Formats: sequence, structure tokens, C-alpha cells
Amino acid sequence: MKRRYSRQVHVGDVAIGGDAPVSIQSMLNAKTVDVEGCLRQIDELKALGCDLIRLAVPDEDSAVAFGQIVRRSGLPLIADVHYSYKLAHLAIDNGAKKLRMNPGNMTDFSNIKPLAQRMADLGIPVRVGVNGGSLAEKFSGMNEVDALTESALECANAFEANGLKDIVIAIKHSDPMINLEANRKLASMCDYPLHIGVTEAGTLRTGLVKSAIGIGALLMEGIGDTVRVSLSTDIKEEVLAARRILSTLGLREEGVNVVACPTCARTQIDVEALASKIEMICADVRKPLKISVLGCPLNGIGEGKGSDIGIAGGKDKSVLLFDGKVYATVSNDVLLDEFLKLLKRKIDE
Ligand code: SF4
Repeated sequence: MKRRYSRQVHVGDVAIGGDAPVSIQSMLNAKTVDVEGCLRQIDELKALGCDLIRLAVPDEDSAVAFGQIVRRSGLPLIADVHYSYKLAHLAIDNGAKKLRMNPGNMTDFSNIKPLAQRMADLGIPVRVGVNGGSLAEKFSGMNEVDALTESALECANAFEANGLKDIVIAIKHSDPMINLEANRKLASMCDYPLHIGVTEAGTLRTGLVKSAIGIGALLMEGIGDTVRVSLSTDIKEEVLAARRILSTLGLREEGVNVVACPTCARTQIDVEALASKIEMICADVRKPLKISVLGCPLNGIGEGKGSDIGIAGGKDKSVLLFDGKVYATVSNDVLLDEFLKLLKRKIDE
């Protein structure tokens, strides 16, 4: 898949754009003043493969706490700042590796110069993050795709005109189709790296579908340098979903892909329970593995041939496959235990 050319920026030691792999990011939902809670979430997201993490910095207390978190974080942290240049400077004082600013909440750009120049001097990029729900008043009446694009480029141009070249743009809308059109338009008008995602995508089921379509469609056109899946659920699901989208598109070889059949009258084992359990157990396995869980030998053995580990369910005994070959036939009572031994062997290989 040919990716759109974009200039490269660095957020700490993570590159975005250019030939860098598409990075995964998420945003904490613990209060930033809850330093220990934030650090716990950072560790969890990092274990799942998250590259960058954003925290809201809504006030001075949060900026100070942000600094405490930065000092102990295993990942580069982005400060999400709205309305206030003062808070933006404070976030930089406290170790922000990137700022997210929303042009819809910046009343004007007259005070942008000292901030842009300071960020340029320190090598700190800005993410100009435009949201469909918070466009500035002056864009009302325009069609949304044009308004989103114009707002983003106006702000990015203001930063660049004042000396900051390290700029990432995000245009997000809760409607994946408007999101798609606006990002396509933006991608054709600039070389800034793009942060993509569908905002306010919703709860797990709805949000996954919208995000897979909205993010996947852009990535398939080569658009997008860093992604965030926004879900109204446990934030770990955001990283797992982003990882799945990227690995499905061949953009990131990471994590376990569990192939499971939809079940039918031939099904001999509880495929749903077993596949769900395996998915849960493998959630933080970063090694790229394909595991198949099928309810009968009819397709189970064939599917298992393309898997690192396969299960083909049988009435009392099931077939386990390893490296695509039949490995053993085991009693269903010990199926999961025997599977786990093979999983450990695969991970240790
Ligand atoms: S793999 Fe077997 S059990 Fe599963 S849906 Fe296909 S035929 Fe049915």
C-alpha cells in the first residue's frame, strides 16, 4: 500500500510521518491530577502497544501533575490544552513532548508567536486538532468538509508562519463519511502528517464499526500517520482496536489474530467461549500470531494449516494444530490447558 508523503515530526523518540510506521495513540480518562492513576493507565496502554499518550491539561494543577507523570512515564506524553496560551507554556515547562491545540477554542492567533517560536526551539510539535463539534463560529454556514479543512489549515499556517514547522493535523468528525471526505481533502492540500480517527465514535460495538470504516478507509488510501480509536469504554480497547485495524491492513505486525468460526449445526465445542477466553489471554501478547478456533474438524483442520496454533473441535476430543500441522488429539476437558502450553511455546520461540 503506497502511503501519502508527509513531512516527519518527532514526539520524544516517536516519529510521526515520513517513513515512520503508523503509530498508535490514546488518551487517558483518569484525572490528570491523579498521578498514580494516570501512571497505571500509561503502563497498561504501553503493554498493549500504545506509542503515544495524551492527557488533558485543563488547569494549572493539572499542568503540575502532568510534570510529575512525565518524569515517571515510559512513553512520550502529549498535553491537550484548550483556550489558554499560558497553560500551553506551563505544559511545556512540565515536559510535554507535543501540544494538542484546538483552533475552535483559540479565540485568535495574535499570541501564537512566542509559543510557536518556543516550540520550534525545543523541537516540540503541535497537533492542530479540529473537531466537528467545536468549530469556530466564523465557519458556521460553510459546508462541514470545507469548514474543517479551512479551520485546520488556517491554524497550521499561523503556527508555521511564526516559525514552527513540526505540525501534525487532525480533523475528526463523528460521521465517518464526513471524516473521510475532510481528511481526503486535507491530505491533498498539505504535507503535514495526519492524525486520524473518528471522534465520539461511541460504545464498543458501534465505535469499533465506525472506527474500522473511518480509519480503515483512509489508511487504505495511504492517508494517516498516527491513529486514535475513540471509544466510550475501557481505554485499553482503543489500543487493541487500533492494533487490529493496523495489523489487518498489514501496517503493523503485532498481536494475536484469533480466527473463529460463526458456528453452525456441525459445531462440537463452545467456540464463542473458547475464542473469547483465548482473545482475553492473548490481549497483551505483542508477537504476531494467528490462532484459529473452529467448531468442527471439517473446516478446522484446513483453517489450522494457515495458523500458528489451531483448534478443530470434536465431540469429546479436539484436534490441536501447531505450525499448521496436526499436533495432537486431546480430550476437551484439557483442551484449553494443552492449548496454553502450545501458546507458551510459540511465544518463547
Ligand atoms: S467450521 Fe465447522 S462448526 Fe464452524 S461454522 Fe464451519 S462447519 Fe460449522
